[in-house]
Amino acid sequence: MKILVINCGSSSLKYQLIDMKNENALAKGLVERIGIEGSILTQKVNGEKYIIEQPMKDHKDAIKLVLDALVDKEHGVISDMSEISAVGHRVVHGGEKYAKSVLIDDEVMKSLEDCIKLAPLHNPPNIIGINACKSLMPNTPMVAVFDTAFHQTIPEYAYIYPIPYDLYKKHGIRKYGFHGTSHRYVSQVAAEMMGKDIKDLKIITCHLGNGASICAVDGGKSVETSMGFTPLEGIAMGTRSGSIDPAIITFLMKELNLSIDEVNNLINKKSGVYGISGLSSDFRDIEMAAEEGKHRSQLALDVFHYKVKRFIGSYAAVMGGVDCVVFTAGLGENAPLSRSEICNGLEFLGIKIDEKKNNEGRGFAKVISTEDSKVKVFVIPTDEELMIARDTKIIVEA
Ligand code: AMP
Repeated sequence: MKILVINCGSSSLKYQLIDMKNENALAKGLVERIGIEGSILTQKVNGEKYIIEQPMKDHKDAIKLVLDALVDKEHGVISDMSEISAVGHRVVHGGEKYAKSVLIDDEVMKSLEDCIKLAPLHNPPNIIGINACKSLMPNTPMVAVFDTAFHQTIPEYAYIYPIPYDLYKKHGIRKYGFHGTSHRYVSQVAAEMMGKDIKDLKIITCHLGNGASICAVDGGKSVETSMGFTPLEGIAMGTRSGSIDPAIITFLMKELNLSIDEVNNLINKKSGVYGISGLSSDFRDIEMAAEEGKHRSQLALDVFHYKVKRFIGSYAAVMGGVDCVVFTAGLGENAPLSRSEICNGLEFLGIKIDEKKNNEGRGFAKVISTEDSKVKVFVIPTDEELMIARDTKIIVEA
């Protein structure tokens, strides 16, 4: 069975065609600048690039080109579209309705529309992508895999905000959590690497990329996560502030006369390690500047590491212990210095890093804790596309 995985953004689209026989990605691709001048598709097969540059006025054009690239005689990987058994779509927000992935039908489409108010930037392009695929492949089953679904097991006392309860009932204001597919994937791989049933494990997963979130996975279920009503809550990120005193918002609006849009822009695009360092949102740049002695860059790193450490400590408290910690995503997978700084001081929890293991090799799953570390620490490359394909397979086969 071959499954096409689609992750649709507002002007870009990522895709993979995965052969479920061996869970191999036959082709991976990225379409950029959809609806903008300079539209471009880049497909990679066995490391070889195939580039198509031609106008794409909308997502339907883009997906049509994706299908063309996949069946291309010279650069494609299948001979006919009918070889695609199903399409798995990444959908950011499933609200409270979806605790699992689901076969897409009219009712699901209506629910996705209802969730637009909760994810105004993310759900609309996801819906556009699904509609474009449906019109080009009307007889192919489609599955929605939600970023929020994994966190629907978080208990009520953890997802309710201490604000008037009516706001939850009338407007759905509660913690939803994001990056669920990634947290679910790496926690499953960690359990396999531990050689234990995930039901018997307490796992803390740290998805540290440009967007970053931490998750407490108890017995295979998410019981707490750092992102909340939106992906802004939690740890400081590349450009996002993470959790700050909410009164700062009203202060900025009152004292600096900032509008809603200006404040929104400030906390989403001008904050995080970028805001503190004043230099970059990319940890590589900040690490380099810190090494050169730039105080604000060092401070940005210190703040970030401190926040992650605080979450790990508190999630051990949430679960009454921790068996393993997982680092994943761009920074989590590639920055030994950050992993080391975050774990430094957590020895009281039983976390001991082996610096040699921490520093050697990348791009594969590995243990970075010492032999005698009570808590195992892993680096596990995330693979949300594979998780989406696995869910899609299970659902269409059922
Ligand atoms: P992601 O959002 O998961 O793609 O992660 C992207 C972020 O990972 C980048 O903005 C970098 O800050 C960080 N990153 C990637 N590679 C490295 C590296 N070698 N060292 C430090 N940070 C890295």
